[in-house]
Amino acid sequence: MHLSPVGTNRRCFLASSALCAIVLLLIPTLQTPQRQSELPRPLPHTRPVRGENATGYKGAGYSEHSSVSGLPFSNDKSRKDLVSADSISTWSKEPLSLKDIFIAVKTTRKYHKSRLELLFQTWVSKAKEQTFIFTDGDDKELKQKAGGNVINTNCSAAHTRQALCCKMSVEYDKFIESQKRWFCHVDDDNYVILPSLLQLLSSYSHTQDVYLGRPSLDHPIEAPERVRSDGSTSVKFWFATGGAGFCISRGLALKMSPWASLGNFITTAEKIRLPDDCTIGYIIEALLEVPLIHTNLFHSHLENLQRMPSMDILSQVTLSYGGFANRRNVIPVAGAFSLMEDPSRFKTLHCLLYPETEWCLRRSHR
Ligand code: UDP
Ligand code: MN
Repeated sequence: MHLSPVGTNRRCFLASSALCAIVLLLIPTLQTPQRQSELPRPLPHTRPVRGENATGYKGAGYSEHSSVSGLPFSNDKSRKDLVSADSISTWSKEPLSLKDIFIAVKTTRKYHKSRLELLFQTWVSKAKEQTFIFTDGDDKELKQKAGGNVINTNCSAAHTRQALCCKMSVEYDKFIESQKRWFCHVDDDNYVILPSLLQLLSSYSHTQDVYLGRPSLDHPIEAPERVRSDGSTSVKFWFATGGAGFCISRGLALKMSPWASLGNFITTAEKIRLPDDCTIGYIIEALLEVPLIHTNLFHSHLENLQRMPSMDILSQVTLSYGGFANRRNVIPVAGAFSLMEDPSRFKTLHCLLYPETEWCLRRSHR
């Protein structure tokens, strides 16, 4: 069959036009929204048989309210674009155990007795292997109690931005070294409810980009930046307040390395002139563009802790207590000890979580 060059050209033109049209039609279905695919999704999950959770924990009342939050002092409910961790009420199939979590406690020499002793007596006693104390002075007694898990950062003991960032920098490096799956930071006036922490982290994979915590502000913070292409000179980002504690997956922590490892954290903090917890938020939200997962399960004493419904207390992840200036800002929990005997309420809480503890039993048999 003879084909004229003009006819061939026309057929070629028609065929390539049809091909282009098909490709154009397919483009929207081939594309997935970028931002959405970046958000970590909770893993598929199943509920454990009651009393057989991964921690072996069988404390009173806990499982009844294990997913309740709904605290009245939530200030982030109005934002629709936020990711909320509070709806995650189920358990992951992936077995995560306490030994996979690196818990960094920030402290200072003057609080070794007044604050750390209480933590060692209570929740730290249940997670001795994975709790690491970051302080600024040697203390033989503490060393005896915590062994190799006390790290003298040699950072200044002052409550300055530089000193606090110096400690965070060492916390980060030690976590990377540890090979553990999750990094969680708390202050020395936090109680960590370990079963709740384990439950929350089990909802995610440590290989995803996960940054979990509670903002102390109801709006993002702003930091100065070099002039951007759109003419802006500042950047806005959310950060989880260090006073309530926060957690970061290993996958995300590794990505933070250029701005966080081996002293780079201090340089980054100096650049934006903000404290340690803000700098963490800056690296994750502003530089890596990974959104903070807002959760109401972490608590600092900046909140009114008295307003927390008693039935929800045992299902929180972290709690705190007010200092001398704010004596009465403690969680409303009644039990083994009076307010005079246990002003922080941490011992009372501990006895509710672990009633088999020897000193709790002694109280109940009086
Ligand atoms: N801290 C510190 N160096 C200091 C004072 C405090 O490392 O000179 C630590 C302290 O141990 C705690 C955290 O910083 O873990 C917050 O301190 P604090 O609770 O006294 O103050 P807040 O900011 O909560 O009011
Ligand atoms: Mn505090």
